[in-house]
Amino acid sequence: MSVEQIPSKLLNWFRPELRPMPWREHPSPYGTWISEIMLQQTQVPTVIPYWLKWIAKWPDVQALATATEEEVILYWEGLGYYSRARNILKASKIIAAEHDGIIPSERKDLLNLPGIGEYTAGAIASIAYNKPAAILDGNVIRLLCRLFCIEGSPSDQSVKKHLWSLSHDLVKLAEREQHPHACSWFNQAMMDLGAGICSPQNPTCLLCPLQSECQAFKDGKQSNYPQPKQRLAIVERCDTALFILNQSEQLLLQQRDRKLRNHGFWQFPMIEDATPEEAKIPFEKQGFIRKSVKPIGIVKHSITHYKITVSLFLGECVTSSLPDSYRWVNKNEIKKLPVTSSHRKLFEKIKF
Ligand code: SF4
Repeated sequence: MSVEQIPSKLLNWFRPELRPMPWREHPSPYGTWISEIMLQQTQVPTVIPYWLKWIAKWPDVQALATATEEEVILYWEGLGYYSRARNILKASKIIAAEHDGIIPSERKDLLNLPGIGEYTAGAIASIAYNKPAAILDGNVIRLLCRLFCIEGSPSDQSVKKHLWSLSHDLVKLAEREQHPHACSWFNQAMMDLGAGICSPQNPTCLLCPLQSECQAFKDGKQSNYPQPKQRLAIVERCDTALFILNQSEQLLLQQRDRKLRNHGFWQFPMIEDATPEEAKIPFEKQGFIRKSVKPIGIVKHSITHYKITVSLFLGECVTSSLPDSYRWVNKNEIKKLPVTSSHRKLFEKIKF
């Protein structure tokens, strides 16, 4: 196996148009940044319409820096992991105020911005600015683990460190190539190869440009890498929510607390991790009573290792002093509010 051959082989193989994506058509640091954040935990086909809509609304950092949090959340609705959208907004304000609206090109400056971690900093610096910055996402991890038959789970810190150092060494090797986009194309080639050819199941090794460099292929052990981590046991959870209308046909909604996942989102008044019986007392303390015996709507969804069932009951508000996080809203207003996807499904189920 000749590691030195890897950059030239990948640079000969890669063409941006082989895997068309709108942010590759006219690459810019801003477009790259937004795409990389959207692509975290999300597939390319899902991201494309969101990215196009976002760029049409806010074509550059300066435009984005004038947006409100509610606006960016609305444009993000459905992508999940909403802290990404909030951090993009915060970072855009910092870039506008402290960097004249220009996205930094150095990894260390990028790392100072909210929402930009090691991977995203490396991706922006290398893809948009052609710097020899390392990247490591799920696809690149799989590719490197197979190329070098890395022992141990990539979730172990020592293995992760080793993978970062390999990625760094390889992009430094790529920098030496006589190629105008050496680091940018090399890193994108690693991502594309990992995503397309070196797939989790049944990698298409016969089409792989690195077949003769790949240790796992040589040993016939592609499916042994990356080595698995221990899985968390699935935990089942019940949440209980109330559907409460007032005499003006307004619906009572609750905004999620700052400390919680999806904070700032709106939902039916809800007690998490409580069966309908367990939720009775906390609801009463808040001034709400449950009126129906059977749920009027049920949704099931999963977050990480939790399998959650949300049961919605008819309720009534018997207090005149609602806490700050509650609000009566008209039917039309609901469409304009960011609502968690499980509760959006509940709206659909009860046809409200
Ligand atoms: Fe992956 Fe197969 Fe290529 Fe090795 S030869 S890097 S296992 S696609």
